[in-house]
Amino acid sequence: MADLKVDLTAPNGKKVTLHTGLFINNEFVKASGGDKITSINPSNEKEICSVEAASAEDIDKAVAAARKALNHESWRDISATERGQLMFKLADLAEQEKEILATIETWDNGKPYGDALGDLGEVIDCIRYYAGWADKIYGQTIPTTAQKFAYTIKQPIGVCGQIIPWNYPLAMAAWKLGPALACGNTIVLKPAEQTPLSILHFATLIAKAGFPPGVVNITNGYGRVAGQALAGHLDVDKIAFTGSTATAKHITKTASVNLKNITLETGGKSPLLVFGDADIEQAAKWAHIGIMSNQGQICTATSRILVHESVYDDFVSQFREIIKTTSKVGDPFAEDTFQGPQITKERYDAVLGFVEHGQSEGATLAMGGKPCPLDGKGYFIEPTIFTNVKDTMKIYQEEIFGPFVVVAAFKTEDEAVRMANSTTYGLGAALFSQNLELAHRVAARIEAGMVWINSSNDSDFRVPFGGVKQSGIGRELGEAGLAAYSQTKAIHVNMGQKL
Ligand code: NAD
Repeated sequence: MADLKVDLTAPNGKKVTLHTGLFINNEFVKASGGDKITSINPSNEKEICSVEAASAEDIDKAVAAARKALNHESWRDISATERGQLMFKLADLAEQEKEILATIETWDNGKPYGDALGDLGEVIDCIRYYAGWADKIYGQTIPTTAQKFAYTIKQPIGVCGQIIPWNYPLAMAAWKLGPALACGNTIVLKPAEQTPLSILHFATLIAKAGFPPGVVNITNGYGRVAGQALAGHLDVDKIAFTGSTATAKHITKTASVNLKNITLETGGKSPLLVFGDADIEQAAKWAHIGIMSNQGQICTATSRILVHESVYDDFVSQFREIIKTTSKVGDPFAEDTFQGPQITKERYDAVLGFVEHGQSEGATLAMGGKPCPLDGKGYFIEPTIFTNVKDTMKIYQEEIFGPFVVVAAFKTEDEAVRMANSTTYGLGAALFSQNLELAHRVAARIEAGMVWINSSNDSDFRVPFGGVKQSGIGRELGEAGLAAYSQTKAIHVNMGQKL
């Protein structure tokens, strides 16, 4: 349909013809309700383009397409190896298109272009990794009695609704599509309304790779309309969600309507602990990566730094220096930019609101805290450090999701562990020490789904990712990620016990 495409020229000069429809049955279609999402460039606050936004009726159509595909021989009956081959093809196509995909990502999201290219590497690796798994997912034979032969088979969960956030639009899609496809499910994926564009170009690759119609459907839409309709749909078997803890609680209730299988990857307030014997220069460098990358919009951002009192001043001074010299804020298409704008005006206001909170709570604003627009425009914020922070303060407890870090001191290992565990979250944690015994002991005691020893935010597609406490349920990535998308059927064979 001619009016469901738009010719765009990105700020870096790259041209793309972008489909703007909902991707259902391998075709781009109009939304039934006439709603649109307008994508805004967060660097200059200008409109990029508008795309179709799904209504509940459109979600019905996408779910019906996914259900039909699940039971269609073109997907149900192909071998697991062929499923993997389709995924390898998709990864190859993404590799060929990675520059244009990264360009759209940077334009729509504001992340530095080099980071967007890094995300694309992760997308490709993740899809290839799970493509390799497709024909290695199998059950067991279980010894019971002489009269019984018992075995299990692994089967797809069915139609999976996947709801993703805006901070890593394509990477979050890949983390969910990879294991779901490897296990033979069909999918309705709802991207975040803040970043609807890159996934539309990615959708063309799904059709090109040769996936049968309806296996992957992508429905841009608003959370409270399309997301809500997907989470509450009676013909959806599973919801996999990544986003805020508040939304996760809402979705959990909505999805209980038919007791859907649920996995959740939610918010965090991850601690980074620096012990007295740590290599301070390394700790400061990793702490910088851990909180300031991706504009601080990382679920595992190490946003609370806890430092032993004996090295507190040294650490803070080295940390500030690294930020001053390497954390250049600016145009995300410029090569020397480390930090781009926050995603939206709403998020920008929220982060600046926390600066006010920090000051009114009595913490010390040691660096940043102010907007830094480019030519008066864009949602840019200076890298911000608060020191002398107490663990009772709001800026210590709440997820801020910006280039904003709090630093507090501890005296003993027990106090460090208590302070690390003193929020409702439990996603990531980093710790720096040269004492192996201490490092492993503390890693075991910290309430988190992932701990990095002598690094930070150093995740890997081959290793499980997820949280404890209010940071989530279930795991993505690695072999563990397959458990979220397959179910075990037990089969009992009577070997001769006649009644
Ligand atoms: P969000 O919860 O506002 O939105 C996430 C998704 O949920 C979007 O697609 C949105 O449209 C949808 N949604 C919103 N309301 C809904 C509703 N009522 N029903 C169904 N869907 C609804 O989160 P966000 O602001 O997009 O993302 C930031 C949050 O995501 C942060 O808290 C961050 O920590 C978290 N996050 C977690 C991980 C992880 O792996 N743990 C990864 C990335 C981001």
